[in-house]
Amino acid sequence: MTIVKRRICDPHIHIYPSGAATNNLRRVLYGENGFQIPSSHLTDLPGEFTAKAYLEHARPHGVRLAVNLPVANRGKKAAGVAAINEWCLGQHEESCGQVRSLGAINPTTMSQVEIAGELDRIKRSKLISGVKLIPMAGPAFQEFDPADCRLEPFYKAVADRDMMIVWHMGSRMKDPVNVATAKKIADIYERYAGRIRMVAAHLGNDAWEEVRVHLIGLEGIAFDLAYVYPMETEYPYIVRTNGATFRRVISDVGTGRTFGGYDFPHMSVGVGQGAFDRLAAEANLSQEEQHAILWQSPVDFYRLAA
Ligand SMILES: [Zn+2]
Repeated sequence: MTIVKRRICDPHIHIYPSGAATNNLRRVLYGENGFQIPSSHLTDLPGEFTAKAYLEHARPHGVRLAVNLPVANRGKKAAGVAAINEWCLGQHEESCGQVRSLGAINPTTMSQVEIAGELDRIKRSKLISGVKLIPMAGPAFQEFDPADCRLEPFYKAVADRDMMIVWHMGSRMKDPVNVATAKKIADIYERYAGRIRMVAAHLGNDAWEEVRVHLIGLEGIAFDLAYVYPMETEYPYIVRTNGATFRRVISDVGTGRTFGGYDFPHMSVGVGQGAFDRLAAEANLSQEEQHAILWQSPVDFYRLAA
């Protein structure tokens, strides 16, 4: 029997400069700030979270391409956002294009002129033509309501440039913060007649029924699985997708709009992959379905082949 080694595109990672930023992040990862990731999720995590360190960590598991999702937190103004994007471009070059990045943007701290300028720069660069948004509350996040009418010029600027938005859908969809709910992002998608392609990151978790109602009929919206795998050691509050639910997701949405993703460094790649395998077994996914989810669908949706 020939064993075909898996080829994986990891469409949801976060890389950081070495040094101080990484130390701060490690403090968050390891439980200061009241947020504790189970240590078993972080097995073999490298000491740094640069593109190079990530690739050394991920390559033995079959990862050949990754998509970094940079976030400009609520404290970042235009110059800080531009610096993030420059750094991400540098990581693209250093990794010979194996770690691609979306652009960072901050729709609430930047003027319309600044937003237009940064979107144009992202579009002209080797960054993926889109932005990551994480609207939930907290200093590390962007803290806005996606349904706020003051964001309309921003959405129009994204739509006019044929760019995409990757939404952090929230690990806990029912948090009393302004997360991107399925209904809110469906409304935006429809208001701009499908001109803003979107990824609903984290699939919706325990709000999957809401996702089903509002999003699965929308062809330009894809889903990533980061953080929805059933884990051996669990957070007390997260409801994960089980095999039966996931089988239904695949039946409803198809594999063409569903991606893997392990949310490095919030989970190590080996641990994430083990969890994917458990979910794939529970959901009885074929080899073809697994290949689509782990490679072809994210490569096609993020247009990484070009
Ligand atoms: Zn993430």
